[in-house]
Amino acid sequence: MNNKSDNHIQKPYTRPWYRRDTNINADKKVIVIGGGISGATTAYSLANRGYNVTIYEKNPALAMEASGNYQAILYGHFGGNPCPDLELTIQGYQYSHDLIKCLPKDNYGICGIIEAIDTDYQLRQLLRNNYPVDFYYPINKEQINKIAGIKLDIERAIYYPSGLWLNPKALINYLTNHPKIKTVCNSLITNIDYTDKWQIATQNGIIDSSYHLVLCNSYNLKEFTYTKNLPLNKTRGQTTIVKGNIGLKTIICGNGYITPNLGDSYTIGATFNNDISNLEVTDGEHLENISKIAKYVVDYKIDLKNVTGDANIRMHSLDHLPLVGPIADYDKFNFVYSLLSKDKNHKLTSSCPYLPGLYVNAGFGSKGFLFAPLCSEIIANYIESTEFHVSESIRIALHPNRFWIKNIITNT
Ligand SMILES: Cc1cc2nc3c(=O)[nH]c(=O)nc-3n(C[C@H](O)[C@H](O)[C@H](O)COP(=O)(O)OP(=O)(O)OC[C@H]3O[C@@H](n4cnc5c(N)ncnc54)[C@H](O)[C@@H]3O)c2cc1C
Repeated sequence: MNNKSDNHIQKPYTRPWYRRDTNINADKKVIVIGGGISGATTAYSLANRGYNVTIYEKNPALAMEASGNYQAILYGHFGGNPCPDLELTIQGYQYSHDLIKCLPKDNYGICGIIEAIDTDYQLRQLLRNNYPVDFYYPINKEQINKIAGIKLDIERAIYYPSGLWLNPKALINYLTNHPKIKTVCNSLITNIDYTDKWQIATQNGIIDSSYHLVLCNSYNLKEFTYTKNLPLNKTRGQTTIVKGNIGLKTIICGNGYITPNLGDSYTIGATFNNDISNLEVTDGEHLENISKIAKYVVDYKIDLKNVTGDANIRMHSLDHLPLVGPIADYDKFNFVYSLLSKDKNHKLTSSCPYLPGLYVNAGFGSKGFLFAPLCSEIIANYIESTEFHVSESIRIALHPNRFWIKNIITNT
């Protein structure tokens, strides 16, 4: 399971738009915009390296948007061919798992995950990678019911004994309760601009400045001039929080998921909806969540009077991988690499016109708790100019420039 690579050394032929900027300011102050899991883990990774970090958050508290669900699960797709996505999933899972285990006990549960499997093909796909036997293994109906502690209508499944749920707010508060992290809430940053440093402003004017600025503000990246051209999409999602306890001992997932209890309630999730016009919690989406779980849990009936929920926006990129790394000046980038639109094999050497000290850590889709903690280490590696925590292929797969260069090459 150890996919950490020593491939951090820049090779001379690395495509220049992916090369690391070597001109990094050594100042130890960093501003982070956004107080979800991305902002919290970015601040935590930097604070642990001795940086003084200030998080600016528009809401009255951290973790009030996508990262503020009652419960989240740590889950990824472990099947398929080796590729950067899979490598990121494996490494992200290990990293997040270790981080979450630092929380006080009531705020997470290592209860295992039972993933329902429909077809033999699906099973083969999942089992083709050689993970250690104790990471996951197939289980039959009898084992499923025994592990779950309740009667389920699932014929076969894969069991991940290390699977866990967590209390996201508790994790974010734990990480940001750090002597080197300051949190400023009720601060909607309306503008960022660069002179000799990055200046950030609310509607009342400039409130802070720093050489290093990390944007962890999810889909609001679209509102800043420097990041508005990043290709980002939104999906609405809703969880259903049910008061009561059905005695479930493990997470069940497949089409939707259900967790064991946190306190007097448990979670069913989550819907995916392209209609992002409002963030109201709806009965329609509760019924959608409940009906998916009713296929797994025998005699599952819920009175809507006993449910509440969380609804928010997931933000994802076109290839569904996060955007992690430095940001270039869009116009200069298009100019410097424009020859590629005529000949994609043209050997360009011009260095990338990066905006000094500006980074983005966003686009986690439905896997923020799997990806954001590890990606925050990558951001810290960029700012600190240290060896990357991930292989060069992961770093490049996450590089924000991948979309702009593709647009030039394909003339789109
Ligand atoms: C219903 C639902 C269920 C989910 N379940 C899971 C799960 O079980 N497991 C999992 O891994 N993932 C899950 N996800 C996905 C996960 O929640 C997200 O990937 C993750 O929360 C994204 O984190 P983030 O920090 O990028 O964004 P956010 O949590 O949205 O944080 C961005 C922050 O930036 C702030 N902000 C924005 N603009 C500004 C500004 N201009 N100035 C100041 N502050 C600003 C916002 O207020 C917000 O607090 C789920 C998502 C949804 C919607």
